[in-house]
Amino acid sequence: MTDPLGWLDEYARKREAAGLRRRLRPRAAHSDLVDLAGNDYLGLARDPRVTDAAARAARTWGGGSTGSRLVTGTTEAHVEFERQLAEFVGAESGLVFSSGYLANLGAITALAGRGDLIVSDALNHASLIDGCRLSRARVEVVGHRDVTEVRRVLAERLEERAYVVTDAVFSVDGDVAPLAELVAACREYNAVLIVDEAHGIGVFGEGGRGAVHAAGLAGAPNVVMTATLSKSLGAQGGVVLGPAAVTAHLVDTARPFIFDTGLAPAAIGAAAESLRILRAQPKLADRVRANAQALYRLTLAAELTGTPPVGAVTSVLVGDPDLAVELAALCAERGVAVGCFRPPSVPDGRSRLRLTARADLSAGDLELAGAALRAVAEQAKPHALDPVVQTNMRRGLDN
Ligand code: PMP
Repeated sequence: MTDPLGWLDEYARKREAAGLRRRLRPRAAHSDLVDLAGNDYLGLARDPRVTDAAARAARTWGGGSTGSRLVTGTTEAHVEFERQLAEFVGAESGLVFSSGYLANLGAITALAGRGDLIVSDALNHASLIDGCRLSRARVEVVGHRDVTEVRRVLAERLEERAYVVTDAVFSVDGDVAPLAELVAACREYNAVLIVDEAHGIGVFGEGGRGAVHAAGLAGAPNVVMTATLSKSLGAQGGVVLGPAAVTAHLVDTARPFIFDTGLAPAAIGAAAESLRILRAQPKLADRVRANAQALYRLTLAAELTGTPPVGAVTSVLVGDPDLAVELAALCAERGVAVGCFRPPSVPDGRSRLRLTARADLSAGDLELAGAALRAVAEQAKPHALDPVVQTNMRRGLDN
């Protein structure tokens, strides 16, 4: 009898040959590396106020939430946090899911279904893409930030109900969606905008209220936001924010809400404390953006090609996936942890190092990052970058 899973070895060999094997590298509790790889934008995940709040919530409510949100998994802490976060971003209501991924699956599949249209940006996060696929709606993928194409697809549709789905801030290059224009298009063509604020909250807008708030669209009746609690809020979990009619509909119909155990109380405790800190220190959001600019300047000073940051993220273009892995390891040797993005997270030939700024980076941290980038430039010299990609990067077309 042949091994029915024998093909896995062959596929693994192909990924190995293409430089696309991924290995889990468990991190130690304490590291001397400057962390430019995680998404802890405000540096709150390890803040003692946040970790104490997580421990307190666990002691009060338990290690887990004990059941689905509709059975025993909704504590008073969940509801209070939903109220506070909705108020912070200017939405009418909020509904917590156990991850940002599930918040996206829940929002999209509960709102859009067979016979509806979804217009989706080509560079949307995988969780938005999967929500579109699961919804059974007709999905039209449009060019990145191409509002003209969005308008055309909306105008030509035969479906009555339509949704435009986009990241607020795109996770790889860190660029921002044209939210005001998209909302205007949605208004004109009677559609709803679903915006993923995973990388917007805590980074954009007044005091970190997000990109939708920054665009003056908070509370708009045709805007639904989703977000994760795992980045700026230093915790875990996801949330949908928007009109109360939407969250009520999700409570009744969103499968990732109904059939999933409620988010652990410790995560709610941590996220609520981070939100309290962010309210008390609204400058944290400005600081993370300023530090991203500093990282970009260091990239250019090292004569590397980088993406200009609008929020917390800047990337150094490498091209070849094996070289990207090698350069990320070099950064680690030089005391700096950076992200390494390879296909399928980025298109072929666009592998890169991703540098994520944090609000709490010190001058010494930035100095170390500068030295690591100079070492990267030195090691990358013999590997000329793909000239087409390089030209596009210079023209700012890589977004
Ligand atoms: N949306 C975007 C844009 C993200 O970057 C992520 C996380 N990488 C998610 C959603 C998923 O959030 P979570 O990690 O909480 O599932």
